Amino acid sequence: MSSNKKVEDLIRPEIRALKAYHVPDATGLIKLDAMENPYVWPERVKREWLDTLQRVALNRYPDPEAHRLREQLRTALAIPNAMELLLGNGSDELIQIILMAVAKPDAVALAPTPTFVMYEMIAAFTGMKFTGVPLAPDFSLDMPAMLKAIEADQPAVIFLSYPNNPTANLFAREDIVRVIQQAPGLVVLDEAYHAFAGQSFMSELGKHDNLLVMRTLSKQGLAGLRLGVLAGPRPWLDELNKVRLPYNIGVLTQASAEFALSRLALLDEQAGRIRMERETLFQALTVQKGVHPWPSRTNFILFRVEKNDADRVFEGLRQRGVLIKNMNSTDGRLKDCLRVTVGTSEENAAFLKALEVSLSLRDH
Ligand code: PMP
Repeated sequence: MSSNKKVEDLIRPEIRALKAYHVPDATGLIKLDAMENPYVWPERVKREWLDTLQRVALNRYPDPEAHRLREQLRTALAIPNAMELLLGNGSDELIQIILMAVAKPDAVALAPTPTFVMYEMIAAFTGMKFTGVPLAPDFSLDMPAMLKAIEADQPAVIFLSYPNNPTANLFAREDIVRVIQQAPGLVVLDEAYHAFAGQSFMSELGKHDNLLVMRTLSKQGLAGLRLGVLAGPRPWLDELNKVRLPYNIGVLTQASAEFALSRLALLDEQAGRIRMERETLFQALTVQKGVHPWPSRTNFILFRVEKNDADRVFEGLRQRGVLIKNMNSTDGRLKDCLRVTVGTSEENAAFLKALEVSLSLRDH
């Protein structure tokens, strides 16, 4: 039997139909493609961090419940006392845990689209159906369409990215509350970009017994650590915790996250700088001819270029040493769109310069 035959026999068709999550090579490029925080820690702080790591027992398994870290997170994220929290290897893993726990034949995961692609991908991994409900043209929730889809598909879980990746906006609070009230299952508010948004549903936990709130440390300068946090009512989280692999948060991540959370002021200061740089970048994009940026409550900006110009501008930027994200082909709604992560002021200036040149070459 040829090995090809075996692949077709064994691998589920919905997995074979997927494309692996593609991460482009950024070697030598200014990296503004993945919503990372561009700042590193001062040398003194790095040395203190390395000191704490020296005391970590690498020969031992980690604390499976990460007790100390969870207590610190409870305070740092202002998680209401009555709520439980669950940690993941990035919030990606939390999405996986949630979907593994609810996946039954015919169970549906629903999200407005375009949105974070992993909701749909992990739904496919777990054998679930996925319903994407297109956003309204202004990227708000299309409430009649959402309510209709909720009624028709009875989703086990609804994901709302708040603010939404890649459109960078916050959905209206009253629309979200309506969705939570109408949903027959769980509603996960994915607050990955909370540090830049100034809005949250964390304090709403407990008012709705089907609401879960998810956060990540990735956008606050700790993308390399991989630490996501899910907060919500204990009956749900106790069940989800059974699906979690016992040692999913390693000793180095636990120790590093504990250290980082003891330096919250530094993380907050960096997020503040990013919010300021975002406004400067937004203003510059607004006056750039041939570019239409959307206002952002995140650490990235979505913008549209002239018709059929996105691929060429993206390549032009890459040739000039700047990597951003090309959204042109991901969703009909994002035709001609590109997404740039807010970097340092120097990186943003280099991006703007490369953008101006790339745009100006259009007619040559
Ligand atoms: N949610 C949203 C909306 C995101 O944009 C991302 C990352 N791009 C994630 C979750 C995953 O973050 P992580 O796994 O790094 O915590």
